[in-house]
Amino acid sequence: MAKAKFDVPELEEYLEVPQVTPGTMAHSRPFVAKPEHQEPLGFPGELVDNWEEKAIDKMGELLGKYRSLQVFLDACVKCGACTDKCHYFLGTKDPKNMPVARQDLLRKVYRRYFTFAGKYFPKLVGATDLTKEVLDDWYSYFHQCSQCRRCSVFCPYGIDTAEISMAARTIMDSIGMGQKYCNEIIGKVYKIGNNLGLPGPALINTLEGLEEDVFDETGVEVKYPVDVKGADILLVTPSADFFAEPHVDGLIGYGKVFHEAGVSWTVSTHASEAANFGMFIGSYENMRRISQRIRTAALDLGVKRIVFGECGHAWRVAYAFLNTLAGPWDFLDPKYPVPQHIMEFTYDLIQRGKLKFDKSENDHMTLTFHDSCNIARATRMGDKPGGQFELPRAVIKAVCNNYVDMDPDTIGEKTFCCGGGGGLLTDDLLELRVKGAKPRVEALNNVMKERGVTHMAAICAICKSQFTKVLPYYGMDMDQIVSIHQLVSNAIILTGQKTDEDEEEDSEEAA
Ligand code: SF4
Ligand code: SF4
Repeated sequence: MAKAKFDVPELEEYLEVPQVTPGTMAHSRPFVAKPEHQEPLGFPGELVDNWEEKAIDKMGELLGKYRSLQVFLDACVKCGACTDKCHYFLGTKDPKNMPVARQDLLRKVYRRYFTFAGKYFPKLVGATDLTKEVLDDWYSYFHQCSQCRRCSVFCPYGIDTAEISMAARTIMDSIGMGQKYCNEIIGKVYKIGNNLGLPGPALINTLEGLEEDVFDETGVEVKYPVDVKGADILLVTPSADFFAEPHVDGLIGYGKVFHEAGVSWTVSTHASEAANFGMFIGSYENMRRISQRIRTAALDLGVKRIVFGECGHAWRVAYAFLNTLAGPWDFLDPKYPVPQHIMEFTYDLIQRGKLKFDKSENDHMTLTFHDSCNIARATRMGDKPGGQFELPRAVIKAVCNNYVDMDPDTIGEKTFCCGGGGGLLTDDLLELRVKGAKPRVEALNNVMKERGVTHMAAICAICKSQFTKVLPYYGMDMDQIVSIHQLVSNAIILTGQKTDEDEEEDSEEAA
């Protein structure tokens, strides 16, 4: 079990609402961005002198731009339905991690400056001035929200705390109090093309290595092409797919699927990142700038289609906003959806009987599936409601013999966040990440004990990275988390692939 400098919560059999313990996470805050992380994104380098005035101006600007924000700040009736729905409250016991309390951090300032009652009778309506203490609370607790939207599913008014937390982060960026992790990463995308800062030659080298590995394993020349002009498909995938485990095993799977489908495809060194952290900081301008890279790459390479790899928030940005951010896409082939998810691509081939599998290749595992928040609650897959839940499960079941779902209250629309989404996947927030993962890990633990589950599949780069880091804190193994296309890769039978008998003959000859 990984050693922690904080108390790791005990896993329970049933989800229990903890006893409220004020201030348990007041110390938790990510590193503040330095000027070199802020300025390339168009934000002031450090806290500006007249920050109170600027923050209120920014809040006014956001209220004018986004009607939903004002509705969310006005509509709450304090019914309490959301209070026990946030994984960060359940894992940390801190009442400021109750969604309604998190919203109130912004709401009380909104009331003070933008409502009649708050201006003249602040105490009566819980309105407060924006002080340094309030700002510090914002910085701490709006970085304890993974913008997962679970609370909004249970709110009778559909109040979306994620939008409130994005607005708070936007205001903080605008006065020079940004978060280092997100803003540094966005800067890397502008400078190099991806979150990891992986330069083009290293990317090409990595993909050539994958071609050799797949050839050694299968005897088939599966290509992992980069910057190929005239390819049919541009694959836009999280940069973690290029090297991290288990992400890269998923990328190997995408390549095998494209190979069997007989389509030409490529990744781009210019748009070598599906992730769009502009959403986490609530910055339309930065989301747009990042998305424009995909448009430029698609035009330069002359592709006909765009397919997204396994990444949760990237699919939300693509599914919900890509057209507004970087469209129109009228230069692509209208026969295909823009964008398309790799899961839709593989599912379609399976439905049409175009792929052959040996499911027994995954028989050493009993799988369950973690629905990622952004995919579950902010997108769809396929052309019907609920496709985002159905397609990943259908693909897993097509390639694995052993599959079990977790407790229905923890999957689908009610899925629990991995604990690392929304721009919180940084080691300066490790305590929060481990504690926030508790409800999901608890549900996993239950199916491991009761149904013999050995592995959990995911289709989000952040979920995969988060679980490989936090599962060991709960006495589990980091390799219990797998990519769905890793399972596809294990089971797919490529045309002309070496059989087990061929491999035996090879080793006899070598001997
Ligand atoms: S959006 Fe998710 S992380 Fe944020 S308050 Fe709601 S449940 Fe918690
Ligand atoms: S469920 Fe909605 S209305 Fe009720 S307290 Fe929470 S945010 Fe307010």
